[in-house]
Amino acid sequence: MTMIVEQVFSMMGGSGENSYAKNSRLQEKAVIMTKPLVEEAVREICKTLPEKLVVADLGCSSGPNTLLLLSQIINTVDEYCCSLSRQKPEIQFYLNDLPDNDFNTMFQLSVQYQKKFREEKGDKYEPFYVVGSPGSFYKRLFPSKSVQLFHSSYSLMWLSQVPKGLKDEAFDHFNRTAIYINNESSSILSHLYLEQFKTDFSDFLKSRSKELISGGSMILSFLGRSDIQSSGELIYLWGLLAEALSAMVSEGLVEEDKLKDFNLPIYAPLMEEVRSIITMEGSFHLKQAQSFESNWDPFDESYENFVEDKSSSGRNVAKYIRAVVGPLAASHFGDDILEDLFSRYAKNVSRHMYNGKPKYTVFILVLKLKGEVQAHRGCK
Ligand code: SAH
Repeated sequence: MTMIVEQVFSMMGGSGENSYAKNSRLQEKAVIMTKPLVEEAVREICKTLPEKLVVADLGCSSGPNTLLLLSQIINTVDEYCCSLSRQKPEIQFYLNDLPDNDFNTMFQLSVQYQKKFREEKGDKYEPFYVVGSPGSFYKRLFPSKSVQLFHSSYSLMWLSQVPKGLKDEAFDHFNRTAIYINNESSSILSHLYLEQFKTDFSDFLKSRSKELISGGSMILSFLGRSDIQSSGELIYLWGLLAEALSAMVSEGLVEEDKLKDFNLPIYAPLMEEVRSIITMEGSFHLKQAQSFESNWDPFDESYENFVEDKSSSGRNVAKYIRAVVGPLAASHFGDDILEDLFSRYAKNVSRHMYNGKPKYTVFILVLKLKGEVQAHRGCK
């Protein structure tokens, strides 16, 4: 059966030791990296003297990063409007994620944050309005022309479903041990993933193009890959998890058929694949495209190419990967394998680190509606 992500996917909810809220430092780096772009986009919108500023964070999850984005926006509005003695727009902030996301935790965090902000800002405090918006960002989420700034961080590599053709008998051998594209995958298999990404990313762009107000911006960051020759670091990240699952199959702890049926709905594209989808879909102009590298271990800030403490780095990686795919693995294999699975995974990741320091490639894009760019040119 094809897994529909919309119905089963979520990060680990709550605020406990294994929750996404406590294990989202890796993803925080992207929010820090996009800060100047967010500030620029907010200033640009403020120039038009809007009465309100409507922002949506797509794939907000249930952790603090979305609030970091919100504080970047509030501070930029404050600074910009105070420096020009202008009336501040009222801020409406939409939190979007799939319906299984732990919105309760997110709402509680946002209320605590509001309280803290009120204390910090004193007289200068202006209320902002946080709204939950459950649903898949591959569909329409908001009324036409109603949002000025879309932001999405570490979310768009998640596909709406595992590519359908993957269940064909031709991929039987692959499915027995793999959960994502691996070094032995055929080009047909990689193509299936790319096709799913094309469909999903085009649907995303189409929906947002209807919802964005003219003059608004969309700032996206997601995992990509830099090398056309290789399938990127994700093949190792997930290959090491598949290896742990395979070992558990051979010890009789996981059913073989269950592993055969498990594939991850994720794809890390090349920048040229992303560019070509944006061009083909046709609604947006890619104003900026950047990429940065991020160590697998979010606590490792060094630029050296070797990992000093491989065991602790392995455990760090396993902990946040558990917060990300733990709920999906638990819904498929059962809760009781998680502890064992991720302790094996931590060891596999440590071993992998003897080959050098593994890194992710993260893409950052700024998009504007195309008509506007043309309209601008027309004015010149
Ligand atoms: N932006 C957050 C969370 C990143 S985790 C941060 O930076 O910390 C990725 C999030 O994307 C998850 O919460 C997941 O549920 C969400 N997601 C994945 N596919 C989605 C979809 N189709 N629609 C909405 N949210 C989605």
